[in-house]
Amino acid sequence: MTQATSASDAGAAVRLADSVIRAQAIYSMAANRNVYRAIAVRDEWIVAVSEAPDGLDGLIGPGTKVIDEPGLTILPAFDDDHSHFILAAENLGLVQANQAHSIAELVELIRRRAASAPAGQWIRTSTTWDESNLAERRLPTAVELDQATSEHPVWVKKGGHEGVANSLALHLAGITSATADPPHGTIQRAADGTPTGVLLSAPAMSLIERLIPPPPLEQQVQNLRQACQLYNTYGIGSVRDPIVTREQLLVYQALWERGGLTVRSRPMYLVPTGPAAERTADIASLGVRSGFGDDLLKIWGLKSLMDGGPFAAALDQPYANNPNSSGNPFWQTDDLVEVANFAVRRGWRIGIHAIGDRAVRTVLDAYERVTADNPGLKPGTLVIEHAFLADETQRARARRLGVGVTVQHPLLYEQGAQLLAGWGKERTGQILPIRSWVEAGVQVSAGSDSPPTSFDPMQALWGMVTRGTKQIGVQGPDEAVDQYTAMQLYTAASAELNWESARRGTLQPRRLADLMAYRTDPITCPVEQLLGLRPVFTMVGGRVVYDRESLFDEQG
Ligand SMILES: [Zn+2]
Repeated sequence: MTQATSASDAGAAVRLADSVIRAQAIYSMAANRNVYRAIAVRDEWIVAVSEAPDGLDGLIGPGTKVIDEPGLTILPAFDDDHSHFILAAENLGLVQANQAHSIAELVELIRRRAASAPAGQWIRTSTTWDESNLAERRLPTAVELDQATSEHPVWVKKGGHEGVANSLALHLAGITSATADPPHGTIQRAADGTPTGVLLSAPAMSLIERLIPPPPLEQQVQNLRQACQLYNTYGIGSVRDPIVTREQLLVYQALWERGGLTVRSRPMYLVPTGPAAERTADIASLGVRSGFGDDLLKIWGLKSLMDGGPFAAALDQPYANNPNSSGNPFWQTDDLVEVANFAVRRGWRIGIHAIGDRAVRTVLDAYERVTADNPGLKPGTLVIEHAFLADETQRARARRLGVGVTVQHPLLYEQGAQLLAGWGKERTGQILPIRSWVEAGVQVSAGSDSPPTSFDPMQALWGMVTRGTKQIGVQGPDEAVDQYTAMQLYTAASAELNWESARRGTLQPRRLADLMAYRTDPITCPVEQLLGLRPVFTMVGGRVVYDRESLFDEQG
């Protein structure tokens, strides 16, 4: 049975398909769960699909590329719902801290970079690493980093919530034993009060980061181009980038203009915690709003944070390793409601980072008031990022309020040991209740939160299916989902989070031709085979952006 778009599409009056692909299985990932055997692409679009391998042969003309590969499995390209893509791009140009296996090796990598940099220039590491890869299993100190250079300020950042400065950087920032901790931030100190170099949480890290000049625009554009090419080799066709500054949007636009943006990007502007009047003025001055852009580059919305990382989460019960603390939400609920009301009335969508149960509940408290204040708000206008701890009551509220939820198993995979230490066994097993989110009918989608985590979607899929982690084994096996569901959350559901289901995210006619092909079927293969699985080719908007086996070459 053929589900061609219409008779006229296949008629003689219009150009025939640019490519027709015949494969073992072409998963539509649409609600009907249809699986096809042939798909036709013309320009940017999927124009027809067929359950019969030869069902689209009528669309083949002299200029049509025919890929006849009965072993291939075709799926919608990955859409990572929470990917710090511009940061990943920037990381490509920095010291690759993930290559170090000890503090001495890390110091050596920094020393080598410093040797070719003029004195005074900042030396920074990529944020995509973790101290669990170091023999010492801890962050370095300022004194240790000083062994690499005393001529350059050094900033060794890990993920989004921790960083280490060398002594020169501490000096330039004016951080001494007399410096008080900024609100919601910690300057880590030795027993005698001397700063160790370690700064915890954004408010403390910004003491250093505000001093670091951005790389030249041209360098940033080249980094982003390289990141696009790299992500395409993993089948990634779209990302939603949760923190993009106004300056970084220029990087996206420059690459978009040059035709190099081969990963569809959905930037979010960060709205820091602060007085409502200041924040609403910020938002008013942005000049655009959600939805501005085209299919390649489009503003998603605003981003803010209700709490921090594993040790800066706002929890209902105290930390397992610190009975005197349960963390604090960053926002006053009244302020957040005022800012969110202002934003949604100007057409903005909002995603708020919340991991602790108290943070998730506080965001939902605010969202409940915002939905009451703004009747008819479109479901999915308000989103919670991560939502690590959310019990049945909070899940039901999210469903009732039309709040979207984004989940990223790679965080649990990578940070499991810290979460176990800080949150204890019971809470760690409850983190990311993905299956329960799906069963509660909440609009949920999946991603990586890379960096610091891996951006490899197959690792995330493996994690969602096994609930496995890097160091602490399986956590919360009841929240595992099957391979089809995991793939659906990482493709079609992410397109839905972007309100773009009518244009992309599934393989059916009149959708953008964003697809990837595998020699092993990721839906039916043994779960361990997912790890390391890479596509044969990736197509974004009908353009072949990765072609490992040169299947699309003229002679191919
Ligand atoms: Zn993030």
